[in-house]
Amino acid sequence: MVQNLRNVCIIAHVDHGKTTLVDFLLRQAGTFASHQRVDDRVMDSMDLERERGITIQAKNTAVRVGDTKINIVDTPGHADFGGEVERIMGMVDGAILLVDAAEGPLPQTRFVLQKALQQGLRLILVINKVDRPDARIDEVVNQAFDLFVDLGASEAQADFPIVYACARQGWCTLNRDEIPDLLSGAKKTTLKPLFDAILENVSKPKITDAGGFQLMVSNLSYSEFVGRLAIGRVISGTVKKGQRVTRRGIDAAGNPINEGFNISQLAVYEGLTQMPVLEVGAGDICV
Ligand code: GDP
Repeated sequence: MVQNLRNVCIIAHVDHGKTTLVDFLLRQAGTFASHQRVDDRVMDSMDLERERGITIQAKNTAVRVGDTKINIVDTPGHADFGGEVERIMGMVDGAILLVDAAEGPLPQTRFVLQKALQQGLRLILVINKVDRPDARIDEVVNQAFDLFVDLGASEAQADFPIVYACARQGWCTLNRDEIPDLLSGAKKTTLKPLFDAILENVSKPKITDAGGFQLMVSNLSYSEFVGRLAIGRVISGTVKKGQRVTRRGIDAAGNPINEGFNISQLAVYEGLTQMPVLEVGAGDICV
């Protein structure tokens, strides 16, 4: 059960290229067998989710790089989901802020970014669409830096790695000077620098040693086939299919609830799908 893991979320304003980036991360990570079709709009694929009888607001994806699995958690694009945003931040150890090289950071991502900073997450800035003729890369980097400081980033958080990307062509670089050659085709690369940046900058999931199994539930959902679904991160121990567990919560009046139930199914994220498993270990995100 022990495996290398990283849990990250993506913060992006709509249209800055989140779906495109995740599509290419999935393709390049080799998550898919060649016969599997990569749905063109991964994070937006609500129909796909309906087909499976599962609808969750924050959609999760997982990619494998070597022996490491990276869970990628989506965040809502706006501030209407305050509590949800905090719960999502509790699942991850790092965040990717994806910003359009021409538009720069927009106010709508401010709230989610602030929550990520408050949670102490390590951030990676991805400047996307560096191919745009109206790209103003250095200015946008400076704007992002000012925004971080403005939102109370720690010194370490303000010292973020910067990845320059053209998600639509499936490449990125940490070397600003390399961009012209990559745009002209004189040099070629992939999204590997982003994978590497995640592995280097985002720490492994913190695991508390509470003894038994504990899952921090971040989201609830429902499946016609299975019943109630809880999505979250295993913060301690392991859990097995069929196990009897207790849900600890509070009711509307603030009274504690301890509700016992059996885990009839367990799944982890693998590519775009939820893969049924018999056991989930600490650190992983599961349903
Ligand atoms: P999302 O709303 O953040 O998921 O954004 P999408 O991934 O749907 O992308 C929005 C638009 O930006 C689409 O038309 C993409 O083709 C385009 N796009 C994504 N990445 C790039 C890029 O690197 N360069 C350019 N020029 N366009 C891009």
